Amino acid sequence: MTLSKLVAGNWKMHGVSSDLDELRAISAAAGDYPGVDVALCVPAVLIERAVRAAPGFAIGAQDVHHAEKGAHTGNVSAHMLLDAGATLTIVGHSERRDAQRERNEEVRAKAKAALASGLGVILCVGESLEQREAGRALDCVTTQLAASLPETPERPGSLAVAYEPIWAIGTGRVASCDDIKEMHGALRRCLVDRFGPAGSGVRILYGGSVKPSNAAEIFRTPDVDGALVGGASLKAADFVPIIAAAAQG
Ligand code: PEP
Repeated sequence: MTLSKLVAGNWKMHGVSSDLDELRAISAAAGDYPGVDVALCVPAVLIERAVRAAPGFAIGAQDVHHAEKGAHTGNVSAHMLLDAGATLTIVGHSERRDAQRERNEEVRAKAKAALASGLGVILCVGESLEQREAGRALDCVTTQLAASLPETPERPGSLAVAYEPIWAIGTGRVASCDDIKEMHGALRRCLVDRFGPAGSGVRILYGGSVKPSNAAEIFRTPDVDGALVGGASLKAADFVPIIAAAAQG
């Protein structure tokens, strides 16, 4: 199945009001590539301003709590994100799995709650350098995905999986196209095992040092349905050529 590509930016802990000009520029340029879905996941406090700055453009969050409401100091629910104007959220980013000690069960609960509320979800998985060097990357990442995926195929079209080798995030190192192809093929089988034919409709993104110079090659790789982009999503001058490459690929 050929899926339209999704190019999502992850601004991480970057972005204040003065950066909204970049967001406006990205949103305006994205309009030139109607075949590509483009989104920016910004810090939670910037969501509402981002939505106002670029009406109609997809703004996402970088995390969500699994509970609807309650005594969860500092957390944000799916309902709150929707209320602020977000249409999607990242869950299970490796920086949160590491620094916040998020486990697969928690990531699964977050994905489930977000999908049930109507948000799109980008669920991140990826192996460490140690796991790759030990020849365990495929096993580790497919196990991680199986344990992080919701059990039922609720709105599978609103779910994307991002394969992000941890050693490639923010390092300038990129997985080889052969390795990406092999991993995405394994993730696709995992999705079809879980969701049946609907698993073919889940987009699988690559993430890890995607830049204008390597995007075209990555997007031409089989089973790559888009990208999750960190550093290169902060400036329109970097991000727009990646969107353009997705339109070609
Ligand atoms: C990310 O944060 O998900 C990411 C892939 O970052 P970068 O593109 O900077 O490697």
